[in-house]
Amino acid sequence: MRTVSRGLTCDGRVVNGRSPAFFSGPVNDTMKVATVSSGCECEARLFAELDERKVVLRGWAKDPRRGRELTAPANTVGARAGQFDVGWMCPWCTRNVLRSFDESSMVLHDIPAA
Ligand SMILES: [Zn+2]
Repeated sequence: MRTVSRGLTCDGRVVNGRSPAFFSGPVNDTMKVATVSSGCECEARLFAELDERKVVLRGWAKDPRRGRELTAPANTVGARAGQFDVGWMCPWCTRNVLRSFDESSMVLHDIPAA
């Protein structure tokens, strides 16, 4: 599986030794985020919070049987087209889970910027 480091911009270009693009741009009081989710084969529910450039801000997984939540490392893959993939490492069963999403299904909402 192809991995994408945080040194890549969301359209896949490598930022050579410079600050990644998502650290530049105007400073706002709010930022737009969207949450995507999918199920793992182990029945855990995987979630990822993405910014408007489809960079993963955080990933987590909920196990409905145990009612617990754990951090799930997640990354966006191929975020340049209308479709993009999100890869998770499920913390419950350690599977690598890759799911495709359509950009039009992203519902962005404002949150206070850190
Ligand atoms: Zn799993």
